[in-house]
Parts: sequence; structure tokens; C-alpha cells
Amino acid sequence: MGSAEKGANKELIENMRKDYPLGPHDKPQSMCPAFGSLRVGLRMKRVATVLSGSACCVYGLTFVSHFYGARRSVGYVPFSSETLVTGKLYEDILESAHEMADPDRFDAVVFTNLCVPSASGVPLRLLPKEINGVRIIGIDVPGFGIPTHAEAKDVLAGALLNYAKNEIESGPVAAPASKKSDRPTVTLLGEMFPADPMNIGAILEPLGLAAGQVIPCREWRELYAALDCGAVAAIHPFYTAAVREFEDAGKPIIGSAPVGVEGTNSWIDNLGDTF
Ligand code: SF4
Repeated sequence: MGSAEKGANKELIENMRKDYPLGPHDKPQSMCPAFGSLRVGLRMKRVATVLSGSACCVYGLTFVSHFYGARRSVGYVPFSSETLVTGKLYEDILESAHEMADPDRFDAVVFTNLCVPSASGVPLRLLPKEINGVRIIGIDVPGFGIPTHAEAKDVLAGALLNYAKNEIESGPVAAPASKKSDRPTVTLLGEMFPADPMNIGAILEPLGLAAGQVIPCREWRELYAALDCGAVAAIHPFYTAAVREFEDAGKPIIGSAPVGVEGTNSWIDNLGDTF
């Protein structure tokens, strides 16, 4: 941590400290936090996930991913002290991006810097934004800046929303697979049980609203649907980067979730004030 703060990635660490306060511990507060973002990526259709980090970290992350039923390979760009120090690791990641960018297989490829490449400042932001029509996304998810899986999910959700938002600003984008509601929708931010959107939809219906897309999502074009909403309900409190992207897109944010009688009443009041 100390060397990362003094080193090339001081700005990254400062931003993470703002977004994800560490509390009393200056270290990960769960098993490798990067599992959160890895799992979100693995659940998305036509999205490839590639890790860059120490072999032992990647072993643990792939083991847990497959334990939890990932049905896809996790990509890996290995490094040595030499490739890390000379900058060759970045070149290897770039080469991997070109190899992976097959538009017949993928809409996007997500590269994740784990602890060592993040601390060393391997500059994933310099990767091309797109190769052969495949979106290339780079994120840093070090255990010394991201406390738990929840914040790691936000790192990837925020990066994906940022990319999709820029695409919307540049021109027409694909319509969502499911029919768009003729009512204003409320995007639901945070992972939830399958029945939750239906229950929330039942609360929204008398207000003339509909439950919208859940973020993190399962398909690229669902990001467009999420951004095409009337408001965003931040059901989980950890999604700082995602909230920033929605706010930047001009979407009002309603905090918390409809839980309990008083909580649900005040949530509905907030919705009423917003629409
Ligand atoms: S990436 Fe960092 S937090 Fe994750 S297992 Fe490796 S050292 Fe631990």
C-alpha cells in the first residue's frame, strides 16, 4: 500500500479512498475483492474477462469462480519481475486484447489489474477503446483500495456504464432485447434476488412507474436500457462509481431500498418527489 501511494498510481489510490472508505482496516475486508468484478463480468453474455496479476491470486480467483459455477474460462496475462519493470507487461496485455477482440464471440473484453499491476501503474487506460468493433475495458481492482466484493462490482459497473454512456452520446445504440415499458422506469442499482424486481415493480405500478433494468446486468445493451430511465434506485449503498455515471447522464438518484413499513413509505415519498 505504502509503495503504491508513493508510486505511479498515487492518483488511483486517492480516488479509491474517496469512493470506498476503508474503515478501520487498511487491507481487504473479504477474500480477494476482485472476485466481485470478475463474477459480474463472467455473468455477462459475450463478455470476456482477463486478469493480470500474480499467478497465486489468479489461481484463487479462477478456483472460486468455477466453484460458483462460472461456465467460461478466465483469461490471464502472466508477468515476471522483468516484464513488470520494463513495461513489457502492458505490451503483453495489448497483444492479448488484439487476440481476444473477435466480434463473432465478444461484445467486450474486460482487463483487470490485480494488486501488483495496479500498484505498479500498468496503464490499462491506454488500451484502445475498441478493436475490431469489440469494446476494450480496463479496470484496477487492487485489494488495498477496494475493500470488498461489493465495491469491486461497482468498479466494473461504473466502467461499463461510462462506456455505454459515451456510446449513447455518440449516436444510436441497440434497443434492449425486452420490450420497453411505456411507463417511466426506475433502474435498480445493486444485485438482488430474482423476485425483487417483480416486488419492487408492484410498488411502482400504482405510481405509474415500472421497474427497469437491474445493474449489474447480463448483457451489453442492457446498459443502454439502464441509462434510459426516469430515475435510479440505489438499492445497495456501495455503487459510488455507478451513481456518478447516472448523475452525469442527468438521472436522479433515490437512495436506499423499500424495506419495512417506514422505509417503504419514505422510499415512495422520495420517488413521488423525484417524478
Ligand atoms: S489480487 Fe491482491 S487482494 Fe487479491 S488475492 Fe492477490 S494479493 Fe490478495
